[in-house]
Amino acid sequence: MPGTLYIVPTPIGNLEDMTLRAIRVLKEVDLVLCEDTSVTQRLFKEYEITTKTSVFFAQTGLKNIDRVMKMLEEGKRIALVSDAGTPTISDPGVLLVDKIRNELPDVKVIALPGASALTTALSASGISSAQFVFLGFLPHKKGRETLFKEIAESDRAVVFYESVHRIEKTMQSMVDSLQSTENSKPRNIVIARELTKMHEEVIRGTAQEVKEYFQNNPDHVRGEFVVIVEGR
Ligand code: SAM
Repeated sequence: MPGTLYIVPTPIGNLEDMTLRAIRVLKEVDLVLCEDTSVTQRLFKEYEITTKTSVFFAQTGLKNIDRVMKMLEEGKRIALVSDAGTPTISDPGVLLVDKIRNELPDVKVIALPGASALTTALSASGISSAQFVFLGFLPHKKGRETLFKEIAESDRAVVFYESVHRIEKTMQSMVDSLQSTENSKPRNIVIARELTKMHEEVIRGTAQEVKEYFQNNPDHVRGEFVVIVEGR
């Protein structure tokens, strides 16, 4: 019997955001592959999960991929988690899933639904997600300004992840790029910060308004951010 890889979402802040199924799967599998053992152990402690963990993601790429492939071939049940949210969504894991689907087609890959900053931010934003483009993390340098021009031209809502180090620069770039297309309809942008956590907030307004909000509240330039730009 070939094995199974379960892709298991974990909370993006609030530890209660685990599904019953996610807890059961993490308890039942032979091994849990994680990014950082100490992060995963905090979750395991909360839910009394004692399954063995193995660090799977090294800075330089996937570690131990051949060993994991062999275990799956031998019929083991393995779960993949990341530090927060859904594995493979701007997180490692896609190479493993791709390799399994290419090389071990009899191994089942089962993705559990659950927490993700992407869907949580979109559903809180009030911006239509009937159609949207997700850009993950924007490049730090090359191609960044071109992307802002493309975002400004987009008829669809655009969503991306941003770090605290670049969020102020990003707001300025959005003020610059969006104003040139703001002839009739002003575009809403949303910055969703610290979702599901104590200091959660969803700021919505024009790029200029949102930028001013953070300028006036510099202590809110903290934590994790999702940016959503309304379609044209
Ligand atoms: N796989 C994860 C998911 O499904 O949400 C995303 C992982 S990615 C490495 C981390 C980024 O997601 C952060 O830099 C931030 O942009 C966003 N993020 C994660 N947790 C968040 C939260 N609680 N509030 C806002 N954004 C969050």
